[in-house]
Amino acid sequence: MDYLSTRDSSLRLSSMEIIKQGISSEGGLFVPEYIPKLKNNDIDDMRKMDYRQRAYKVLSLFLTDYSQDDLKNIISAAYREDNFDCPEIAPVASLDKNLFVQELWHGPTYAFKDMALQILPHLMTTAAYRTGDDKEIVILVATSGDTGKAALEGFKDVDGTQVIVFYPDGGVSNIQKLQMVTQEGKNVHVVAIEGNFDDTQTAVKTIFTDREFNKSLEKHGKSFSSANSINWGRLVPQIVYYVSAYIDLIDSKALEAGEEFNVVVPTGNFGNILAAYYAKNMGIPIGKLICASNRNNVLSDFIKSGVYNIKREFYKTISPSMDILISSNLERLLFELCDRREEQIKKWMKELKETGQYQLDDQSLKKLQSHLWGGYANEEQTLTAIEDTYNRYNYVIDPHTAVGKWVYDAYKKETGDSRKTLLASTASPFKFHEDVLRAILEPESLREKDEYQGLEMLESISGMEIPSGLKNLRNKPIVHKTVVSKERIGHAVKNILRLDGGRHEDSHSTV
Ligand SMILES: *Cc1c(COP(=O)(O)O)cnc(C)c1O
Repeated sequence: MDYLSTRDSSLRLSSMEIIKQGISSEGGLFVPEYIPKLKNNDIDDMRKMDYRQRAYKVLSLFLTDYSQDDLKNIISAAYREDNFDCPEIAPVASLDKNLFVQELWHGPTYAFKDMALQILPHLMTTAAYRTGDDKEIVILVATSGDTGKAALEGFKDVDGTQVIVFYPDGGVSNIQKLQMVTQEGKNVHVVAIEGNFDDTQTAVKTIFTDREFNKSLEKHGKSFSSANSINWGRLVPQIVYYVSAYIDLIDSKALEAGEEFNVVVPTGNFGNILAAYYAKNMGIPIGKLICASNRNNVLSDFIKSGVYNIKREFYKTISPSMDILISSNLERLLFELCDRREEQIKKWMKELKETGQYQLDDQSLKKLQSHLWGGYANEEQTLTAIEDTYNRYNYVIDPHTAVGKWVYDAYKKETGDSRKTLLASTASPFKFHEDVLRAILEPESLREKDEYQGLEMLESISGMEIPSGLKNLRNKPIVHKTVVSKERIGHAVKNILRLDGGRHEDSHSTV
């Protein structure tokens, strides 16, 4: 199968090529030529398979230029038993007979990003090797928290790669920061930026497209790539878990074979929910895709009105990984909705850039609404959803998942749709224990508790074990201490990569 770009539909590239490139040179996103279908007997076959075998089945339909052996090796390396803390990899828990939660946070950094970032590095290095490309791959990541750590864990010690993560100093949670600054590995670099996430992301994007920078990199035998969710190599592994959840639900008799179910996804950059859309188009009987936003509710407004409008205040919330105004992956859905007319996509994206908004035509809006329903939860509602879920089901969810739970309840109330529903649980509650505890316990019991006491309190009320990687943070030395101003990000990259014959400054110094 070949891939084309949402802004150049005449393009035909192999999956290896687009995974190496990340984004198309004219700014479009890569999409598959067609969406392969799963037949009934494929589903039957998959009932006997474990997660890795299911992943192979789905990936092999999309990544047709990878050899069977390569794909199998890549999948075994990614979804190793010692990488995920449960053998099912993405288990489905049942809260009641209508609501099921897929726990996507059993990987090494305890958020769903691991599902894709454990596999992407292997897809990339295999693609480079098989296409005879021997340049070192340099991954630049701007993170608001979860992506940075997941990329570090995914790429650490992977030969032929370097990973440099930038995070806004003061803009990530304590646990998230500790996870990053204690990162081990010979090819990993972590830099704090004096600035907010938008500054960080803008600076990183500028480096990506800087021609001089790219030339100098090439001279040193290196090239940039992106581990962002615009890379198809991050999306395709996410389709797998929706397919797997459906099969688990029929296996446990929670669903009849072929019975429609809804999916609720706490959404930021629109990657995770887009994977569910692809699963639906492969033939998984998904009814409504319920898109849950936090207070930054651009998407839920868009799904209701057809107007995508980013001219609004940006809020920092307790579900930080969803604090986003421009959801990049939406472009891929729009491309399908407007019957793959690249001219239309270019027009909307130009309007967004120049005026801060665009509006769908009636026909595209109708199509959008036939698949999606959008809602949002504010901060108080998010905390209420954590508390209610705990009281009612004795089950602890993190603030991102709680946004999804709130919107699920709102959807049922407004539409009366009583189909069974899968809620994508995107992070372990331990990762955001302060807000989780605040939602469940009285303020007095939390006073003067530090990071680690908080983890222990959550362990005792949830009945779940503190994930080992968070428990161990306490004993790990802080190895990344570099802080730079946002103007000096390029300089920092040059130093780290020793470009321009620059003196290498190790990660203990302040640049
Ligand atoms: C990244 C992230 C999201 C948002 O996912 P998108 O694919 O960007 O929509 C939601 N929850 C958590 C915990 C995340 O890390």
